[in-house]
Amino acid sequence: MENCVFCKIINKELPSTIYYEDDKVIAIKDINPAAPVHVLIIPKEHIVNVKDINESNAQILIDIHKAANKVAEDLGISEEGYRLITNCGAAAGQTVFHLHYHLLGGVDMGPKIL
Ligand code: 5GP
Ligand code: ZN
Repeated sequence: MENCVFCKIINKELPSTIYYEDDKVIAIKDINPAAPVHVLIIPKEHIVNVKDINESNAQILIDIHKAANKVAEDLGISEEGYRLITNCGAAAGQTVFHLHYHLLGGVDMGPKIL
């Protein structure tokens, strides 16, 4: 996808700190971390957001969760716990329109909206 920052990172046209990568998913350090651990779990396929998930591509959600599990283990926050969130659409705060999950941890995450 042209002009998609995450596609450029996936294609190695832009640098990133990579924590995990396989043929379906990449996990990178967020450029503007909101917590001591802030990793973006990103499918390599350009899916806009959760609204684009359907019967034919839903396997990617399992792949994303498996990658999140592994990265949380590798970064030592699996036991204490972490937050895994995705923003869907502008009103939710989505700024990059390529599906991604934020893996946040390494600190008490504080008050929750829900
Ligand atoms: P959203 O606001 O769409 O849920 O999350 C987008 C996230 O991507 C933000 O947390 C932002 O800091 C991160 N981000 C935006 N551009 C880049 C980039 O070029 N590299 C990395 N590593 N993260 C980025
Ligand atoms: Zn993309």
